[in-house]
Amino acid sequence: MPRCKSCGKTADGYVLRHAKMHLCKECFIKYYERKVLNTILKHGMLKGARFIAVAVSGGKDSSALLRVLRKIAPELKMVAIHLNLGIAGYSDECQKTVEELCSQLDVNYVVYDLRREEGFSIPDFQDTPYGRRICGVCGTVKRYLLNKIAYRLGADRIATGHNLDDVVEILFELYLRGAVEELVRIRPVSWSTHPKMVHRIKPLIEMTEEENLYYSSATETPFTESKCPLGKGSRMMKRKELIALLEKNIQGFKHMLYKSHVKRILPKLEQSIEEPTLKECKLCGMPALKEICSYCKISSKVRKADVNQP
Ligand code: SF4
Ligand code: ZN
Repeated sequence: MPRCKSCGKTADGYVLRHAKMHLCKECFIKYYERKVLNTILKHGMLKGARFIAVAVSGGKDSSALLRVLRKIAPELKMVAIHLNLGIAGYSDECQKTVEELCSQLDVNYVVYDLRREEGFSIPDFQDTPYGRRICGVCGTVKRYLLNKIAYRLGADRIATGHNLDDVVEILFELYLRGAVEELVRIRPVSWSTHPKMVHRIKPLIEMTEEENLYYSSATETPFTESKCPLGKGSRMMKRKELIALLEKNIQGFKHMLYKSHVKRILPKLEQSIEEPTLKECKLCGMPALKEICSYCKISSKVRKADVNQP
């Protein structure tokens, strides 16, 4: 049985492959919390923060995020925001998990039911021109609503559970496409450039999916293991599988790609690409790049589809 690199006790299954390290449960928990705190401090994520809104889906990453933030910043005012996306056989289970999680951690929470509040749910996009890239649309809906809810609540930070694997997958796709305007937005912190835009932080950006799973399990944090049925076979999932294969053959690949982006490429991109000026969407009044924001544009498709139904 391998020994914990930190204390020498039997290491009960906590293997950090990229760091070639075995740890026991207690040392892993300390390692994880220290590493997240370092990321937060390194990027000044909570500097001057008074009220943080944490996006929780019920999955391992955001559940780990809520617990670790509670531990690291117990004095900070915190609210969890959960979006019920209306995905049959998945969303209700996620909501239940979030309710259990928040009551265990004693955190106030808001559940926003998409169908009830907005009149549509994510599966409705399947019958629209956006059906083939449903995860992209879902991402836009989530980003918009989280900002709007957090803004209305008066929060000055939104924390999301994006992990290293998520970010590397996005980087991989954007580098392939040479999408520099989008690449410049992939960063640990997105400081707001509009009064209705809340600063967004990604405290788990340096943690792998596996580490978040270990942490949630080791701390007995409630999370759902169910996967969204709409994500099955998506291009995003295929890219993640490919990256996992690369990581298996080139250990440290994900950390390398992320670090090169943040340390070397991002500063250069920030110098050469101007931050776009945000205006207010003519329909909803929230920040937008064009006259009509992407949320209003895409949601009009499902609202229209509703009207056309017999
Ligand atoms: Fe949304 Fe895709 Fe995630 Fe499902 S897998 S919750 S559709 S982003
Ligand atoms: Zn709008």
